[in-house]
Amino acid sequence: MQNSIDELRYQFQQEITEIQSTNELENLKVKFLGRKGPIQQLMQKLKEVPVDQRPEVGKQINQIKEFISQECQKLESKLIEKEEAEQLSKEQLDITLPGRRSHVGRKHPLTQTMDEIIDILLGMGFSVQYGPDIDSDYYNFEVLNFPPDHPARDMQDTFYLAPNVLLRTHTSNIQARVMEVNKPPIRIIAPGKVYRNETITARSHVFFHQIEAVYIDTQVTFADLLATLDAFLHQLFKKKIETRYRPSYFPFVEPGLEVDVGCLACEGKGCALCKHTGWLEIAGAGMIHPEVLRNGGIDPEQYSGFAWGMGLERLVILLRGIQDIRQFTENDMRFLNQFTLI
Ligand SMILES: [Zn+2]
Repeated sequence: MQNSIDELRYQFQQEITEIQSTNELENLKVKFLGRKGPIQQLMQKLKEVPVDQRPEVGKQINQIKEFISQECQKLESKLIEKEEAEQLSKEQLDITLPGRRSHVGRKHPLTQTMDEIIDILLGMGFSVQYGPDIDSDYYNFEVLNFPPDHPARDMQDTFYLAPNVLLRTHTSNIQARVMEVNKPPIRIIAPGKVYRNETITARSHVFFHQIEAVYIDTQVTFADLLATLDAFLHQLFKKKIETRYRPSYFPFVEPGLEVDVGCLACEGKGCALCKHTGWLEIAGAGMIHPEVLRNGGIDPEQYSGFAWGMGLERLVILLRGIQDIRQFTENDMRFLNQFTLI
């Protein structure tokens, strides 16, 4: 019996030196002090000890039990202290660590400028009208004075989805719809995506955005067109800029013209951006063709109107100094993150 107690003490002393954590200690306690542990077994064997030796042996069993409990308790406090310190060191605030950056969303550069354009034109008395991206040949071409087989249709390479169904090539498809249901005065802007079957390059894409303005009333003149465009462009570019109007041809206007602004990069001196002309083409415009008014149910003898349209991508490229139109649709965060509101 004495040997068993000494062995037990020795075994315990060996095993407790191996203990590294409170979990391991808990297992050790169960192993030695538990109901199936060696202490309980010794208690069972006490019955076999001669009666006169029992008090002494019983005392020794109690002592070893007490010893094991106390040793476990001492180690437990040490382990708890150690584990708490470890936990704390993990949670410690390291002020040398780089801060976590919070990512703030922002509007796409095209949306920023589109919103700004809409804001300016709303302030000038226009209201916003939207139309379908998929439209009929009638609203995209015919009503705008592009009869079937008219050579002007070749000016715009069109995606046809079915005979007479197409992706609109301009937001002018909204004009006739508005005229059909409204009487002049009409002052609307039509922003949206347009589609052309073109090769994708740094300067052209299969889809881009346009914003068109239409004003129809009695006695709307060519001077109104020029003055409205000038006022709009000055507000958009936030400074007085030079404008130049060149005669051009679009089937839905007569006369038609193209609008240039003095180059923003070189202020007219000539640079690569303006191909050394000092001017940048920015919009197409004109007085609405009488045939188009008639198609929309408006009497051209009584009313006249102007329309102009511009490509949003081209404007943003000029305003922001962007080199490649494809960057707008590549969703590269390195590109998009550069654009804060201007
Ligand atoms: Zn220039």
